[in-house]
Amino acid sequence: MEKKLPQRMCIACRERKDKKDLIRVVRSKEGAISLDFTGKKVGRGAYICNDINCINKLVANKLLNKAFETPVDEATYESIKNEFESKV
Ligand SMILES: [Zn+2]
Repeated sequence: MEKKLPQRMCIACRERKDKKDLIRVVRSKEGAISLDFTGKKVGRGAYICNDINCINKLVANKLLNKAFETPVDEATYESIKNEFESKV
């Protein structure tokens, strides 16, 4: 029998996918937001597809503000995008 993988919803396209196909975005207690490629960073998490289209959508629509219920500045969005691009 196949093991059921945990699923999460992408905050950009709102599709449910296997957790392993998504990237975790984490907000630390100090308010620093970064991508978590290891799944080990501590903080509040949200998930996004491992896909530049979803990253672009996240930046264009400022979706982290909603995901973390807090204002997120432009520089943070830029660094998230840079982090993604340097990893892929
Ligand atoms: Zn997505």
